Amino acid sequence: MIQRLLKTDKLYTGKGDFITDGMIAIDDKNKIVTVGQNLISSGIAIEYFEGALCPGFVNTHCHLELSHLKGKVSQKTGIHNFIVELQKIRNASEEEKQNAIEAADTEMKNAGIVAVGDISNGDSTQNTKSFSSLFYHTFVELFGFRTHLAKSILEQGQKLKASFTELELNSSIVPHSPYSVSEKLFGHIAKEEKNTPISIHNQESQAENDMFESGDGKLVEMMKSFGNDMLDFTQTGKSALQSYLQRLSKEIPLLLVHNTFTSKEDIDKAENIHQNLYWCFCPKANLYIENRLPNIPQFIEKGVKCALGTDSLASNDTLSIWEEIKTIKEQFPQIPMATLIQWGTLNGAEFLGIEKKYGSFEKGKFASVNQLVNGESYVIN
Ligand SMILES: [Zn+2]
Repeated sequence: MIQRLLKTDKLYTGKGDFITDGMIAIDDKNKIVTVGQNLISSGIAIEYFEGALCPGFVNTHCHLELSHLKGKVSQKTGIHNFIVELQKIRNASEEEKQNAIEAADTEMKNAGIVAVGDISNGDSTQNTKSFSSLFYHTFVELFGFRTHLAKSILEQGQKLKASFTELELNSSIVPHSPYSVSEKLFGHIAKEEKNTPISIHNQESQAENDMFESGDGKLVEMMKSFGNDMLDFTQTGKSALQSYLQRLSKEIPLLLVHNTFTSKEDIDKAENIHQNLYWCFCPKANLYIENRLPNIPQFIEKGVKCALGTDSLASNDTLSIWEEIKTIKEQFPQIPMATLIQWGTLNGAEFLGIEKKYGSFEKGKFASVNQLVNGESYVIN
């Protein structure tokens, strides 16, 4: 039974297009009944919303457990300095951390986000995730550069994953980045059963490519300063992405996060190797850490699938997909809004495997609706 009829000037469907003077009919179970123009239902008044409506946003890359670090890390100093600073300031109390995680969850809800892919190194977010109205998929993130420790690092990850499963929270075990995971550990992760989807921080800095291409640079210096002898590392003469991609399963959806230093050749080669790639951009975090954005138009030119993330409050002042969309639109005004909205809704939902319920205005899906007007977004259903 139809309970609400919403009408707007531009109805972004989430599928990369919009309907002028579009309408949605919502039933009493908060599901979408129909989408179109000139819908009528007897006894139901039409609610008009100025501007545009779009589906609830999907944030494919977040680190809830770093929420207490808002405003604590220096901006625009590069990823290696960022990581070094992070190591030094992880000293908030348990209560502060929990409060910040809870507040971040609420912030995302208020920003119209309905589903989140969240990186976790520990269990501190489990309580919030269990009670949240948002859908969470947790990426249990592993790192470790020493080959002989790979097995025990994997086992710790399996234990952490099991604790999420016990709480009926979805999770998978993933590598942190190409520069912080040994070949052996990559191999273990690739062999994990029922471990989907996968996410990895990709080409966030030039130093990451330097490490694989030439075997030196700022990241190598940083790894050594953390006590890694680098004896287990072999340079490949190729970019980071081209060096590690074969190590992961080709069938499982893979989210490549950041891509700030990804070339056209990288995109071509990667798409050839792996048929289920999603390229995730976190533009506000890129500006915060490296003060540089990925060459986003080149991904559109290649016709690859893109998604969006906020990254954490350690490298962002908001957790809002709409703010990420606006940041891209400001830098690259030629990219259609409908495309950016698809990245921030349906593509993210597809990657997380929840597209039957989330991501677009289509019959039978949850009717989470955001209004976009005068540059702001508001949750209206
Ligand atoms: Zn991240």
